[in-house]
Amino acid sequence: MNAPAIAPLDPALARAAADFPILARPVRKRRLVYLDNAATTQKPAAVIEAEATFYRESNANIHRGVHWLSQRATELYDAARERVQHFMHAARPEEIVFTRGTTEAINLVAQAWVRPRLGPGDEILVTCMEHHSNIVPWQLVCEQTGATLKVVPVDERGQLELEALDALLGPRTRLFAFTHVSNALGTVNPVAELVRRAHAVGALALVDGAQAVAHQAVDVQALGCDFYAFSGHKLYGPTGIGALYGRFELLDAMGPWQGGGDMIRTVRFEGSTWADVPQRFEAGTPNIAGAVGLAAAIDYIESVGLEAIAVHEHALLAHATEALGAVSGVRLIGTAAHKAGILSFLVEGIHPHDLGTILDVEGVAIRAGHHCAMPLMNRFGIPGTARASFALYNDEADIAALVAAVRKAQQLFRGEGR
Ligand code: PLP
Repeated sequence: MNAPAIAPLDPALARAAADFPILARPVRKRRLVYLDNAATTQKPAAVIEAEATFYRESNANIHRGVHWLSQRATELYDAARERVQHFMHAARPEEIVFTRGTTEAINLVAQAWVRPRLGPGDEILVTCMEHHSNIVPWQLVCEQTGATLKVVPVDERGQLELEALDALLGPRTRLFAFTHVSNALGTVNPVAELVRRAHAVGALALVDGAQAVAHQAVDVQALGCDFYAFSGHKLYGPTGIGALYGRFELLDAMGPWQGGGDMIRTVRFEGSTWADVPQRFEAGTPNIAGAVGLAAAIDYIESVGLEAIAVHEHALLAHATEALGAVSGVRLIGTAAHKAGILSFLVEGIHPHDLGTILDVEGVAIRAGHHCAMPLMNRFGIPGTARASFALYNDEADIAALVAAVRKAQQLFRGEGR
């Protein structure tokens, strides 16, 4: 089997694995082959150091602090917001709300924008390929408001059925929430086109960018979306920090969703008033060190270059698709024309969980299961898949290890090699 060789790596990328300390640790006495990047990415030393340095040198609570350290921490937190703003190409820093991640960002929109505005007869549209994080918050808010959830179907290759979309989008659609990149299939959706169609019927568009931001440049103004959500930990940043981008006019018109410190202007027992955006949506002490770490992750990713990362990951995907597809008994799930570095597959006669366990013994970390996309698995009539997902530090050797481990699993299941 001759899979095409990957084009020579960009010099910055060829060295990238060395930036990630965890990749140097053996797992089960073998070289770690980490192919579970869609679940979470590993962290470069620059991010680990940025968080540690914050705690060592600048730790204090932000806002209202009169002392030097508090002012320093506030400056770093505000600078992190501006870093995210520029990364997303948002028009102003107030359009970036720090959240715990994508899930919290979507729940924020569901509770603060949808809940007070929608009622019976209104519709929220999602797609069949959504992560549970972009389904369940809408189900909850539909129960709370009487609105209805509609679903855009997906074809055999794992692409949205755009003809069906025309029939589903209508004057009752108030919000279209869809993923930029499918975490289970790797399908890249035509975001600008979907946003345009949503706006044509007067609906808002929310994009779940959890699987996109680490793999391609995102410009929220060029995409035209109203909301865009992502998680820091899928972007080489820390867990527990992410962001919601929202158009300023929309955020400004929204009431708070959680109450507490920092989100108020005045508090009286007769009633309280709210802080300006984005503080209005950041109740309580935020993840300050996480925001600093996220800014460091963005610095890191931009130093490598999103363009170079996208080219590299596409080459890895093409190589892995060919190499794995050539193994008899392997069925690829998700063969869309436009894909990011995610490869879902089934191996005949081996349950994905068993496959994941055998690969782990070989030092190859993949994910097995429904990938928090149960409706999509039902669409394909399967309980789950095995999934390899790529990051900037993966290389040809990782794919060779994956394919060799899959072959080994097949031998084990055939009773050879015991
Ligand atoms: N949306 C997509 C497409 C995802 O892949 C994920 C995580 O896997 C999420 C949302 C949820 O992200 P988080 O758990 O960081 O909130």
